[in-house]
Amino acid sequence: MTVADGFYRNENGELQAESVSIQDIAKRFDTPCYIYSRAMLQENLMAYKEALGKRGSICYAVKANGNLALLSLLARFGAGFDIVSGGELARVLRAGGEASRVVFSGVGKSAQEIRRALLAGIRCFNVESTAELERIEKIASESRTRAPIALRINPDIDPETHPYISTGLAQSKFGIPLAEAEDIYKRAAQSPSLAVKGVAFHIGSQLLSTRPLREAAERVGEFVAHLQDSGINIAHIDVGGGLGVRYVDEEAPDPRNHVAAVSTPLANLGVELIFEPGRAIVAEAGLLLTRVEYLKENGEREFAVVDAGMNDYLRPALYNAEHIIEPIILRQDGQRSIDVVGPICESADVFATDCQLAVQPGDILAVRCAGAYGFAMASQYNSRPRPAEILVDGSHTHLIRRRETLDDLMRGESVFVGD
Ligand SMILES: *Cc1c(COP(=O)(O)O)cnc(C)c1O
Repeated sequence: MTVADGFYRNENGELQAESVSIQDIAKRFDTPCYIYSRAMLQENLMAYKEALGKRGSICYAVKANGNLALLSLLARFGAGFDIVSGGELARVLRAGGEASRVVFSGVGKSAQEIRRALLAGIRCFNVESTAELERIEKIASESRTRAPIALRINPDIDPETHPYISTGLAQSKFGIPLAEAEDIYKRAAQSPSLAVKGVAFHIGSQLLSTRPLREAAERVGEFVAHLQDSGINIAHIDVGGGLGVRYVDEEAPDPRNHVAAVSTPLANLGVELIFEPGRAIVAEAGLLLTRVEYLKENGEREFAVVDAGMNDYLRPALYNAEHIIEPIILRQDGQRSIDVVGPICESADVFATDCQLAVQPGDILAVRCAGAYGFAMASQYNSRPRPAEILVDGSHTHLIRRRETLDDLMRGESVFVGD
């Protein structure tokens, strides 16, 4: 087995996770569940680390998948973390990550989130507005400390991806327009409660070309050179994440292409680079297992109704995302066009249309490349307990999040006891 084959078919044609039979995992832990390959997780992080070398560091974007076991492994493999909430900070710290290697992104940081992050001693706040900068300055001043900051610049570049995951266009809610950033830096540099550390950008997600990333780096690079000329010290440039992955047949650049495209225009600035990959680290390292509950026909179409729904895995419903869906055990005949749909009472609850599949009720299917924005976006919609998560490490299987129970569904609620 090569590491790149964290999931592969064995000599009997059965899908395996590393050395473990996925059919056995389904028997033992039931469906739906997520399965992750430790080897692939490590391989994907190492690809970035090796491409980057001594030029900078990796801050894994926790929002892609915040499971404690995965975070603790990534910390062990040498990752820092990019967080977007106080909850993610708590996860990183619980998993043994170092606050000094955490950068905090996001447009809506609350006062409490800022206070906690400052107290924990994070590496940098990626600030998205002047109002946020003023709030951070005030809190740092009250705490008699200096808050490390970078401004998240909006470079106004079209990342050529789905509009819901484009973040670097002028009309988007993210970042600060380049034209306004210089004045804000000058003010920040004067503040006794702020420590200017860097400049940040992040233009979007699932990028299949490095061109927009390079263009953004060029724009930001010119700006940083200009800041340095005006005496503002910039120690790092946080270049965000966004590298796409191959879900079906996309030609995705690899981490080496990403690092080269972004670091070349920034090479002469003498700054450290921070990359924030999320999807490129965990997407391929995970899959979603689901069982066929029923087959049904409506008019011309045949449907396989599976036991996972858009509450368990939202991307197909949210972005029309396509995935490879395949049976764990292949059947010889009966291949036909089938729509794979979930049980949720929403017409958007469709995993795939026109899938060429040979399936019977009870068969287990794998939705491949589901490790990123999978469990992280799962909800209990339709009052469905969220699925279990399992980590495979060679021949070992670890339950890293147990399946939720009916009690979990109602935790914190109470029946009305008034008159
Ligand atoms: C979501 C996000 C990332 C990670 O994006 P991927 O496409 O998963 O690599 C990185 N940085 C910021 C600021 C983000 O919001």
